Amino acid sequence: MRGRRTLAVRGTGTRRRLFGGVLGTALTVHAAPALAQRAPRADGLSDYVGWVDVPRYFPETEHNVDGDFLPYFWHGGGPDTFGFPLTEEFWTAPDEGAPAGRMVQYFQRARLEYDLGEAQVHRSLLGRLLEKEQPAVPPAPGVRYFLETGHNVGSSFLVHFENAGGRKVLGLPISEEVEENGRPVQWFERARLEWWPENPAGRRVQYGLIGEAHLNEVEQQVPLEARRPAAPLPPVRDWSLPAVPPAPRVAWAPRDVPILYYHQVPSQQPLREQIQAFREAGREIVPLSRVVATLRAEPGADLPEKPLVLTFDDGWVSQIQNAAPVLQAEKAPATFFVITRYLGELPGYMSWDQVRTIKELGHEVESHTQNHPDLDRLYDDDEGAALAEIWESLAVLERRLGRSRRIFAYPNGRLNQAVTSLTARVYQAAVATGGGTFQSQQHLYTMRRIKAEPHYKPEALLKLMG
Ligand SMILES: [Zn+2]
Repeated sequence: MRGRRTLAVRGTGTRRRLFGGVLGTALTVHAAPALAQRAPRADGLSDYVGWVDVPRYFPETEHNVDGDFLPYFWHGGGPDTFGFPLTEEFWTAPDEGAPAGRMVQYFQRARLEYDLGEAQVHRSLLGRLLEKEQPAVPPAPGVRYFLETGHNVGSSFLVHFENAGGRKVLGLPISEEVEENGRPVQWFERARLEWWPENPAGRRVQYGLIGEAHLNEVEQQVPLEARRPAAPLPPVRDWSLPAVPPAPRVAWAPRDVPILYYHQVPSQQPLREQIQAFREAGREIVPLSRVVATLRAEPGADLPEKPLVLTFDDGWVSQIQNAAPVLQAEKAPATFFVITRYLGELPGYMSWDQVRTIKELGHEVESHTQNHPDLDRLYDDDEGAALAEIWESLAVLERRLGRSRRIFAYPNGRLNQAVTSLTARVYQAAVATGGGTFQSQQHLYTMRRIKAEPHYKPEALLKLMG
């Protein structure tokens, strides 16, 4: 049932969700472009598509709410407005207005319906389906008259009607205020409002149990598998990632390539002295991508006798203030690993314009995830969230800055086998921490790096380089 619904509606593109965040951070859900609009792009960015559906299970009635119904349910007021789900979602049989049937779900106080044409959710016309229309009446004074159906809405019902979104949400009034079961109610095309004076202020207008009432009428037409109590549905995820990088074709003899990683650069002079000392010791500073190309045995790639790589993590603003001028003066290339969601958002981090400047100065700007989680732990909690951190940061980075070298840095050096496998699906290589200089093809996704700070003695760092 779920598969059929999902298949049919996915084709419209409306149920697709791009990741905008992960566990522990605000999950921004973007409407993704329709499939037809996702033609391949020249910059290769069309290869990033991902979505996730995380159903919500209600133990109260043992049913799931999923897909587009779920945000509609919460935004519309949750159980107070709709009650709990009484069925799973399902396709109805074709009817006059819907030759393909309707995707619906019964709640205690409404039936929700996915409109394929408008690609949106709304309440079904249960007032009409339950045949609650009354004949039109003349306008009454002091209330609002709806010419289309010839009914008046006033007082608390009118206030509630307008606050709830008016006719677009509840439909037109199809009755006057009438008494049912000893209390004033009014029927609308899509709801029944009820007056509960005994309730606290703000809760005196309630939605009637019309979903339940209609379900009782049509129960035999509802598929059994939608009616019977359900188990919690697992999340559904799908990914479309960039092409897997080809495996290196030629075995490459492991060798020592020291890769330093810095964070804050509080002033210029210590870094300048380090770089000059490295050069005096015969070190030639090369971009990280050149090491990766050599490790991957790409044609023409090679390394000098005593190479050295400089990397800067996290995207601190002190890096453009103090590292960039030194690197420029010393003509030293470097690789910057940035946390894409921190840029321009958190104090102390570079803006996207500053990062673009870094790249225009000839340095490499590469991904260090969206939010800097410990990926091994995140993977255990939610492997989809971990994958989103790994690949979405690349998509964001390349959308902002154009193609990168597709080299990744694990936050805090935290990784496991699963995390490196996910990384290898998207990136050319990845760097870890932990020291050491021995780089090999087998460790393309766990390249070693040596921790460095500008205030370290150059001789101490040179010693670690072997
Ligand atoms: Zn970091």
